[in-house]
Amino acid sequence: MKAGLLIDRNKLIVKDVSDPKIENEEVIVKVRKASITRFDLMNINNPTKLPIIPGAEFAGDVDGKKVAVYTRTYDGTCKMCRKGMEMFCLSGKRIGVDINGGFAEYVKVPKSNIFYSDLSYEILSSLSLTALAPYHALRTANVKKEDTVIVLGASSNTGIFALQLAEIIGAKTIGITNNNIKVSKNIFNYAEAIEKVKETTDGEMGDIIINPLGSKYLDLALKLVKKGGTIVTFGTLYGSEAKINLSYLYLNQISLIGTVRGTVQEFKELLELCKKCKPYIWKEFSLEQINDAISEMSSSERKGRIVLNIN
Ligand SMILES: [Zn+2]
Repeated sequence: MKAGLLIDRNKLIVKDVSDPKIENEEVIVKVRKASITRFDLMNINNPTKLPIIPGAEFAGDVDGKKVAVYTRTYDGTCKMCRKGMEMFCLSGKRIGVDINGGFAEYVKVPKSNIFYSDLSYEILSSLSLTALAPYHALRTANVKKEDTVIVLGASSNTGIFALQLAEIIGAKTIGITNNNIKVSKNIFNYAEAIEKVKETTDGEMGDIIINPLGSKYLDLALKLVKKGGTIVTFGTLYGSEAKINLSYLYLNQISLIGTVRGTVQEFKELLELCKKCKPYIWKEFSLEQINDAISEMSSSERKGRIVLNIN
């Protein structure tokens, strides 16, 4: 089969490799679409295993039926799995990082990682990380219908899903971005964010602030959150070290939480919720063009997802 094989740091080549061979409780997914995520870029730039076929987010067919893939393996029996935290499974492996992923015509995964669905390949290939990470963040922050959810980095791929999912849950949403992309009714730029959020919320500010960007935006998040509110962080593209005024944090009873990936239960819920999701696909490439697709991830013009069409 044809695959994008990472043979060294930042060295991805398309070549013929042997087809995956399945063992007990595994299935072969015929990959239809694979998305390129920041997570893939981090892995390509700093791999933990070589050679490896990257690709953490993809969808395809098993026995001619459409499937989504939960992109970390799990045994279902360890301490973490029994708590419903499969993303921390003690024997789990990350698909596309520790074991071969979806930048290939075929990939083998455990049966327990596939979920049949009639959603489009565009949506199914956005669920594993891009939709699951913000959904897990919203769930961990205990989002409710009456909440105002403010999403920083609203035009990023996870930001777009954070807004959509919060809206589907019934919350009021505000997106902050300097990018001219209309992904919610209330989209404001960073310079006007505080003033506009004040206006939109009658001075109350947000119940939940989603900050997938990192420490550079923590101060803004603290200014946008209301007393008793929650700030969730699940990315550090713009810095991981932060200085924080603990007096301000406790006097306003603000929760600052981190989240990572999501649970199998949440992934199943997404298959229902995302009947209403809209994929924002910016550009599509073939597997042969994988290096062009990866370069385009850093384009300042980018609005939405970059997807590989495979098979
Ligand atoms: Zn486990």
